[in-house]
Amino acid sequence: MAGRKVAPREAFSRRPRTAGYFCTVRTADNRVSSVLGQYRLQLADRYEEGEVRAIVRSVFADRLGWDMAQFDLRRGEALSESELLKVYMPLKRLRAGEPLQYVLGTVEFHGLQLRVGPGVLIPRPETEELVDRIIRSGKVPGRIVDVGTGSGCIALALKNAFPSAHVLGIDVSEAALVQARDNARTNGLEVDWVRADVLGIDRIPVSSVDLIVSNPPYVPRSDANEMNEHVLAHEPHVALFVADDDPLLFYRTIASLACQQLPPGGDLWFEGHHRYTPSVGDLLKSMSFADVEVLPDLTGHHRFIHAVR
Ligand code: GLN
Repeated sequence: MAGRKVAPREAFSRRPRTAGYFCTVRTADNRVSSVLGQYRLQLADRYEEGEVRAIVRSVFADRLGWDMAQFDLRRGEALSESELLKVYMPLKRLRAGEPLQYVLGTVEFHGLQLRVGPGVLIPRPETEELVDRIIRSGKVPGRIVDVGTGSGCIALALKNAFPSAHVLGIDVSEAALVQARDNARTNGLEVDWVRADVLGIDRIPVSSVDLIVSNPPYVPRSDANEMNEHVLAHEPHVALFVADDDPLLFYRTIASLACQQLPPGGDLWFEGHHRYTPSVGDLLKSMSFADVEVLPDLTGHHRFIHAVR
């Protein structure tokens, strides 16, 4: 052993306590503004400046319980080593392009805290609008079916809004249903879940239903080249895409089931692609649904369809 160089104690104590990437993102100091600077630097090629700020706010809210509105006021504050570790931890996966919601593992949807992970579509704000429209319609449904429930977001938010309703969520993906069940449990909401491929069933497996809702896959495959990589590379394609040559496939299929199973006066609600929602409206009229409306989302796009049996 003679002659072998032994690093002085000092060198060990300066080593980062965590593996690999942490040392590449260490800042000159431990102020919040430096953390923001590092996020900017590391995510510049993936996200716009404003998006990075929103991401950092969400990370501080989720990991340190900070009030997002106060983030800017606290930029000069210093963080402890353990706080620094917590706020830097998500950066590696974000740099690799994973969506923020998967990295943090949760998303807020219509006042509910839902867990999401790879294999389940991340609930979108426009889907909260769909839920809002159903709630504000003034009707109180007794039996609800959500086709293609994913994380369970629509089914759970409706159960929360209509506690006496019986709600069933259907999905083709077992991974989605595992997440949906978990979300029901953590939010204390009782919903039934059934695994089924809506394209392969003759009936929705319920004895009666008075509201059917669906946010089916509606992005034409050819739109993929315009989509964000963090959606494309990470979210389940089975929940997103439909073939270019038949973009109404899910609407036609679900509307046919609704024709058989919804009683007169029963409601059908859809979210859809802004280019195709007018055609969905025409389809429903041709199937003798009444009061067919194509409704805009907050950005002004034709996004939702409502029809009455
Ligand atoms: N709104 C989602 C998106 O544009 C698509 C959801 C869906 O296909 N149902 O990414």
